[in-house]
Amino acid sequence: SSFLTIQEGCDKFCSFCVVPYTRGPEYSRSFEKIILEAQDLVKSGAKEIVLLGQNVNAYLFKGKTKEHRLSDLIKELEKFNEIKRIRYTTSHPRDMTDDLIDCYSNSKKLQPFVHLPIQSGSNKILKLMNRGHKVEEYFDIYEKLKKINSKIEFSSDFIIGHPGETEGDFKDTLEFLNKIKFINSYSFVFSPRPGTPASKLNLIENEVAKERLKKVQKILFQYQLEHNESFIGKKIDVLVENKMKKNQMYFGRNEYLNGVIFGGNEKYIGNIVKVKINKVNQNNLFGIMEINSDMRAA
Ligand code: SF4
Repeated sequence: SSFLTIQEGCDKFCSFCVVPYTRGPEYSRSFEKIILEAQDLVKSGAKEIVLLGQNVNAYLFKGKTKEHRLSDLIKELEKFNEIKRIRYTTSHPRDMTDDLIDCYSNSKKLQPFVHLPIQSGSNKILKLMNRGHKVEEYFDIYEKLKKINSKIEFSSDFIIGHPGETEGDFKDTLEFLNKIKFINSYSFVFSPRPGTPASKLNLIENEVAKERLKKVQKILFQYQLEHNESFIGKKIDVLVENKMKKNQMYFGRNEYLNGVIFGGNEKYIGNIVKVKINKVNQNNLFGIMEINSDMRAA
């Protein structure tokens, strides 16, 4: 699995974030250079490409004759026989354009797992954060993707206890979590970053914020565990990444980026194999590789 940076910087200026000041404006790398780099990665054995960017779905490269977007890169990578899986991260709801959503209908390699930060389930807080989108717009993206493929799952980022967050705003976030059932997410208590507009706002009581974070994480972890449990007894595709240092087991990832630990063999590293899952915890799945595993990647 190889990372390929396609975009840097950010123009969004969320009120809590330093990135636009430290990394500068959005910049997209040349389409042709990215494809050449993908060719090199494939030559050195890459089976999965993870397109990276601070705002990866804002990717826009103006070539001599044509503009290229993230969807064009995905279509181009799709053509490489050697590439079995395509991912991208981190995306912004404002840039989930229809051409990108359509890729989920047309691509066989784009993985059914979308990391799409929302930060809060309250429109009032999203406005204070200067996110530039509403909860309903996020839900609309979720519904469009679920309609294309009901197996698509979401993960997100949450900032809890942002200045101005009332009990009502917090309840909106809880309601939203229960609506989407994110399978994996990052959540933090708001912490002011010097120089950002949000750092000038009055903080809410730290104990209240910490208590809210606990509630949010309890729900997030529960959905994460439930999703992992849904694999018990099933045979799933795992891209084998490496042999683990501390034991004789092997490590790989399924299509949702879950870590999968199983007894395997050196020769399967870099291949997609079938693993029957017999145990899970919140973070990992455990199983046994099928002996006659369908090695789809040579
Ligand atoms: Fe940009 Fe993301 Fe920071 Fe918002 S949170 S300013 S979108 S990098």
